[in-house]
Amino acid sequence: MGMTEKTNLAIDIDGVICDWQGHLKKLVDEHLEPETQDYLTDWDKIREVKDLKTGRTIASFAFKEWLQELHSNSPVLGDPLPVIETLKEHFNIHYVTHRLPTRETAEWLLRHGFRGELMFKKNKLDAPCPVIVDDYSVTLRDYERRYRIAICFDQPWNRMDNFKYRIHEFNQLPEALRQAGIMR
Ligand SMILES: [Mg+2]
Repeated sequence: MGMTEKTNLAIDIDGVICDWQGHLKKLVDEHLEPETQDYLTDWDKIREVKDLKTGRTIASFAFKEWLQELHSNSPVLGDPLPVIETLKEHFNIHYVTHRLPTRETAEWLLRHGFRGELMFKKNKLDAPCPVIVDDYSVTLRDYERRYRIAICFDQPWNRMDNFKYRIHEFNQLPEALRQAGIMR
């Protein structure tokens, strides 16, 4: 009798285990004069909302001169690690992110104790995982459409969208995985 194979669980980084958005807001508050605060509830807007002083978008700072700072020094969001450790009995953990590949991301995960497979994916459907925890509605819908399990990590920017599974804190994840029938 072989060992039961573990399921691959995809965990998004930004907005789920890492407060990238919070750290970006701090940088914006310190250095920029954004024309609106819309980007706090709709993060796709960082590509449109401009800094009044320079005329540049928030995204252009986030993905250029602030990129390393954000990947190195964004704080951990909540206390996900103990929960992830208990889930390792049932799952192979894959940290799946839209980020451009950076060494800082790998170092950040290690520094904060997150051990698992790190995957930089333009399209998160390319991760070999039947279930994902994510805060981005587009990704969650993609997973649902492919008959995979999408667990929404509650954030202000996804609250207008309905998902079958929604967690408000990381310690609600085991129960959601049980409800989804993917963990006993
Ligand atoms: Mg995210």
